[in-house]
Amino acid sequence: MNAHTTSLAASLTHERYDVVVAGGGAAGLSAALVLGRSRRSTLVVDAGAPRNAPAAHMQGYLSRDGMSPGAFLEAGRREIAAYGVQWTAGEVVGAVPDGDGTVGFTVTLADGRTVRARRLVVTTGLVDELPPFDGLADRWGRDVLHCPYCHGWEVRDRAFGVVAHPVMGAHQALLVTQWSDDVVFFPHTYDSVTEEDRRRLAAAGVRTVEGEVAGLVVADDRLTGVRMADGRVIEREVLFVGTRVTPRDGLLTALGAATEDTPMGRFVSVDATGRTSVPGVWAAGNAIGAAEQVVNAASGGYRAGAIINMDLLNEDLDRKTATTV
Ligand SMILES: Cc1cc2nc3c(=O)[nH]c(=O)nc-3n(C[C@H](O)[C@H](O)[C@H](O)COP(=O)(O)OP(=O)(O)OC[C@H]3O[C@@H](n4cnc5c(N)ncnc54)[C@H](O)[C@@H]3O)c2cc1C
Repeated sequence: MNAHTTSLAASLTHERYDVVVAGGGAAGLSAALVLGRSRRSTLVVDAGAPRNAPAAHMQGYLSRDGMSPGAFLEAGRREIAAYGVQWTAGEVVGAVPDGDGTVGFTVTLADGRTVRARRLVVTTGLVDELPPFDGLADRWGRDVLHCPYCHGWEVRDRAFGVVAHPVMGAHQALLVTQWSDDVVFFPHTYDSVTEEDRRRLAAAGVRTVEGEVAGLVVADDRLTGVRMADGRVIEREVLFVGTRVTPRDGLLTALGAATEDTPMGRFVSVDATGRTSVPGVWAAGNAIGAAEQVVNAASGGYRAGAIINMDLLNEDLDRKTATTV
């Protein structure tokens, strides 16, 4: 164990926490905030790769509109610390049910630390797989975007390009016409674009450029165009792309959590409080839904935390009333 690991390990003061939260983004920190304020011993383990890290600003979170994603999470970590919640850098790699007739887990971190928990919250987010166009990853979150609600205002009225979504066809191209009148749609090689899409694109004044997209043209650190496989360059200042999303739900599926198929892929099913099909395990944020924005993720985490507090209280009362009968 190196010195860094030792100092982190020293911060885990409980052998058994009321709740371990895997993932310290908006969802996980919000769950931790309500749990800390409910006087629950809580540990947040965070691998430090929030989904919106490439973006300079976070938009659309009432009262925090325009804040940097890093500053937002830093403020959240300060707030949970004030209520005694512990936070550690790390990756949860497994959670095994105690198997003794009670609800509880032994949680293992990648660095070998283990800790026990009565309840588990999984808020590990998702992974965006970007289309494989040359130069695209470098522009992600800057002038290559996926979400007009996140960034549309900031790039309004510019020359937009939109590559078809691999699943949702022209949806994004139609949506972004609310932010610019100059929209070019690239069906690329996807077969997700329907005839109805094409009628609606024409009605919305969107120009369609057929052919395979190959890469981006960038000058002076700004997107200037989209390069087609046949060599044409279509001048554009902003490019919207769809991503294939993969929830980081390995902890949940390893525990046997039920999943459901959605238009965006397979996600773990939860009830309205974030409760999964596995007793004692909740989930929130992008780990269970691709459409969750920061404010929704925070809300889901908060709701899960509040319900877990009541669940723990009920469990303790059940035990006490059972022994006094
Ligand atoms: C480029 C971009 C810009 C965006 N801009 C906006 C915006 O302006 N406004 C907005 O509302 N939304 C925006 N979003 C969406 C936003 O990123 C998500 O809504 C938000 O991050 C979801 O929060 P979360 O807590 O579910 O997941 P995340 O924020 O992704 O946090 C999950 C955390 O869990 C950690 N983790 C993963 N696995 C483990 C593990 N096994 N153990 C421990 N920790 C783990 C991760 O490292 C990460 O720190 C943007 C997304 C992108 C891609």
